[in-house]
Amino acid sequence: MELYIHIPYCRQKCRYCDFASYPCQEATMPQYVDALLAEAAAMAEHAAGQPLETAFIGGGTPSILPPVLLEKLLTGLHAHYAFPPGMEFTTEANPGTLTEEWLRTAIAGGVNRLSMGMQAAQPDLLRTLGRIHTQEDVAASVRLARRCGMENISLDLMFGLPGQTPAMWRETLDAALSLEPQHLSCYGLIPEEGTPLMRDLDAGRLTLPHEDDERHMYDDALEILSRHGYRQYEISNFARPGCECRHNIGYWRQTPYIGLGSAAASMLPDGQSELRTTNPAAISDYLCMVAHRAWSSREITRITPEDARFETLMLGLRMTQGVSEEDFASRHGVSLEDYRGERLRAFEAQGLLAHENGFWRLTRRGMDVQNAILVDLMDE
Ligand code: SF4
Repeated sequence: MELYIHIPYCRQKCRYCDFASYPCQEATMPQYVDALLAEAAAMAEHAAGQPLETAFIGGGTPSILPPVLLEKLLTGLHAHYAFPPGMEFTTEANPGTLTEEWLRTAIAGGVNRLSMGMQAAQPDLLRTLGRIHTQEDVAASVRLARRCGMENISLDLMFGLPGQTPAMWRETLDAALSLEPQHLSCYGLIPEEGTPLMRDLDAGRLTLPHEDDERHMYDDALEILSRHGYRQYEISNFARPGCECRHNIGYWRQTPYIGLGSAAASMLPDGQSELRTTNPAAISDYLCMVAHRAWSSREITRITPEDARFETLMLGLRMTQGVSEEDFASRHGVSLEDYRGERLRAFEAQGLLAHENGFWRLTRRGMDVQNAILVDLMDE
């Protein structure tokens, strides 16, 4: 079982962000942490006393939580769940908010991995994105984290940004590499409806790079990161050997998880199938749900066997290792060949999928059109 804890607070909303995160709600933090711990107690039965496999505090901006509340949260979680020694325990943090006291509190509470959003090295691009930090803040935060004893650090970067050239992207990669992170995530920007960034794009005030340039940026990431000893293990994720994010790998391999907090989802075994539950996104609705112990007001979806089979294929293809035929058959009682063999082979003939040693995986060309491949594979 994996554990995810959502902290929905941010100092200001980034201009591209449509996550469940809210500025100017800090007054509710003490009540929110109490609610997280009440929910942690109510959900603990699903872990059945078994040691957790990984834990992850995400957001929002977890590093905006005052250290005293972070300490209360971590102490409470340890009271309800078994954290085995050495277990990967990640927290996200924003370089604009990270302090030494916060880091030391996190480390004392068992956190041993830090994931920070760096996004871009250029001040203009950071402004376009509405980020609250500079590249100097990122470098200072990495140095601070190392000084406090945090060895395992991941940085998030973004490409395909309005105004970004391939040369700027290579500069961002170089700046990130100079900080020697153990792990890097490189995400292509997907403009989301309703965000200020999307409004600027629609109005022509901003322009996205040409798709050829965006493809070159991704190719540059593959080439430069590989040259520096980072292995790509998922479409957007690269790690030094042994530093892959176990929490995310667990998600892609459909390990059950408990999600605590507003907008958090859980995936829980239920007999022969699985239930996915999702908490209300608004902080006030979440606090109300916990106060009334109205757990049934969560959105609940039963994952059908067909959904589960498709998810195994979809999530497995994100990983460079691909989908194991053996795991698929033992998990679903049907072979991949019987499930989608004909179509997988058609994509193989087009050079979009590769089939080796009992695994199906995307080729480099397949990664560019993965959505189209998945849409085709989804159809009955
Ligand atoms: S820091 Fe992250 S969660 Fe918060 S607004 Fe920015 S992108 Fe969204």
